[in-house]
Amino acid sequence: MELRVGIVRDDRYFVHQTGVTHPERAARLKAVYRMLDKDFADGLIAIEPEPATLEQLELVHSPAYIRKLLRTPEREVTHLAQDTPAGTQTYVSAWLAVGGCIRAFHSLLSRRCDACVCLVRPPGHHATRKGAGGFCIFNNLGITATYAIERHGLQRILIIDWDIHHGNGLQELFYDRKEVFYLSTHYKGWYPYSGDWDEVGKGEGLGYTVNVPISKDVSDEELTSLYRKLLGPILRNYNPEMIMIAAGFDAHWRDPLGRTQVTENAFGVLTEMILELRDDVRRPPILMALEGGYDPAALAASVRQVLSALTFKGKKKPVNIPSNPRAVELAQKTVGIHKNFRVWTE
Ligand SMILES: [Zn+2]
Repeated sequence: MELRVGIVRDDRYFVHQTGVTHPERAARLKAVYRMLDKDFADGLIAIEPEPATLEQLELVHSPAYIRKLLRTPEREVTHLAQDTPAGTQTYVSAWLAVGGCIRAFHSLLSRRCDACVCLVRPPGHHATRKGAGGFCIFNNLGITATYAIERHGLQRILIIDWDIHHGNGLQELFYDRKEVFYLSTHYKGWYPYSGDWDEVGKGEGLGYTVNVPISKDVSDEELTSLYRKLLGPILRNYNPEMIMIAAGFDAHWRDPLGRTQVTENAFGVLTEMILELRDDVRRPPILMALEGGYDPAALAASVRQVLSALTFKGKKKPVNIPSNPRAVELAQKTVGIHKNFRVWTE
């Protein structure tokens, strides 16, 4: 089945200025947009972002933090966190990053699109209720998922976070809720140093947070094989109404912050795999939001693989992923930790 694929892009995401030496800079998105113009000039559904409302932001963030953001246009630079500067125009991008994801959510809800890719910045998965961090200002996906639950009654959202860093902000927001199932693979020796095996959720949310720390030399084979082993049972047993992907591409081998062995091909294979697995459940729509990815060329190449998988026309061949011994070990350990909660293990 051919998918209707939406795309959120807007040049106003460039006006969040972080300084020329900062890894999270506008050049990242410019490279991705150039690739879009060249390789995906038609066939994608353009979704126009609009700024999030204060009410939407307050679903997640504290009024004091939002007030702090509202004052950032008054100063040339405001350090929201040591690594997260805001310039005079940052609010424009930040409000639109959330708003773009919410517009994408609506286009999925109305079935105008089957999958949406939000190519936004600043990223979001490290932002917490009270503050910024790890280049993230508002928790774009966290707000969108909360909005989906609180305002539109969704009960089961699967968030897959394949950024090489742990999405501490996303985890924190949904740690005690079962309306969001949070699955993250990340290298644990780096920022934000959270996401250990034993972080599994609590209360109602016990068993609905799955953290899989991976090694720095993770390869395409290991990563794709690991997801193959985990996602099947998670999708079958959780049966999500929507899949959200915290799509960071900083696991790429060329990424200055990532430096693993992963190539852009892995992201294409992961996307194909998710499309295939979702056919076994009720084809939940997919909302993907850009997180990390700090080598502009590697980022553009990775997004190209994702979009190629989403827009593929013709008969799909079953995705062939050879079993990888290290992935088997990781998956077994994950199941071992989670089997007592009986949320998704079989
Ligand atoms: Zn990252």
